[in-house]
Amino acid sequence: MVVDMTIAEDISLLESQKEFIRRYRATESDGIKNVLPMLASSCPGWVCYAEKTHGSYILPYIATTKSPQQIMGSIIKNWIAHNLGDRPIYHITVMPCYDKKLEAAREDFLNKETQSRDVDCVITAIELEQMLEKDGISLDSLDNSTISQPWFVKGNNEISPFLTKHVGSGSGGYADYIFKYAAEELFGEDIENLEYKSLRNPDFREVLLQKEGKVLLRFAIANGFRNIQNLVQKLKRGKSQYHYVEVMACPSGCLNGGAQVRPGDGITIKELTTRLENLYESLPCTSPEENKVVKELYDSWLGGQESDKCNAILHTQYHAVEKAPNALNIKW
Ligand code: SF4
Repeated sequence: MVVDMTIAEDISLLESQKEFIRRYRATESDGIKNVLPMLASSCPGWVCYAEKTHGSYILPYIATTKSPQQIMGSIIKNWIAHNLGDRPIYHITVMPCYDKKLEAAREDFLNKETQSRDVDCVITAIELEQMLEKDGISLDSLDNSTISQPWFVKGNNEISPFLTKHVGSGSGGYADYIFKYAAEELFGEDIENLEYKSLRNPDFREVLLQKEGKVLLRFAIANGFRNIQNLVQKLKRGKSQYHYVEVMACPSGCLNGGAQVRPGDGITIKELTTRLENLYESLPCTSPEENKVVKELYDSWLGGQESDKCNAILHTQYHAVEKAPNALNIKW
């Protein structure tokens, strides 16, 4: 089967929206510290860096919502395998970076009973291109084929057979969707389009919700390690005013992932990324709230929204990596 990951992306967005509201209310009503800003969790390049470099200080800020790749792993290895009569499934994802291999290999995503990983193998775009080249196949010469819809719920066939986009960024649109949901849920504001302002550089953009001169929500998108380092330093000095930051390790985000197909002769990486952004922009937009299959999966599989099963299956945890002692620093 070849399946599209929009369902997992939608669930990841819905869970992130709810997680943000929980964190916001915990801060505002209960005065709980170290839960805002909520930092995005879908980029393993960023998560591994945070675990290794900043450890226990920064980890509480990172959303516990799993990335779309790992939510897809849970859907395939739990729900779909079960509905296929508990058949073993080998699950491969196609991803834009090598870091997604590290994510799939995390202990947290290994079923200890069956010794089966939620994602067995990650192939990057560049590796896929190399495989096709090795076999002398050009993607342009192949016919389109149908994407499987193996969701085992009502409305299964109503899902779009075409590729769709999430608005806001080429990295999943987390800042956009969470901002609009929070504006409505917390302040009753219905916002259709967000206007981001570039700050230090185009890879650090900010968007505000203001009322009567007061900033109600301050969100940002921070792409690339230069911006991530600045953000972390501000957080450590207690100078970050953000409520949410969509953090992505690659400059320009996932459309410019480290293992995306390389540009051909005469085209720069910047030009290729712009082309990809325009192509992605031209896709029809999808709305997680209106995805009937997602709604049915919550009802049939997950025991409803905000259930214990949702927490167990759709959320994860992070682990600070102990720094190896430097031989020069050991006091004998
Ligand atoms: S930003 Fe880069 S490293 Fe992070 S998930 Fe996207 S492609 Fe992978």
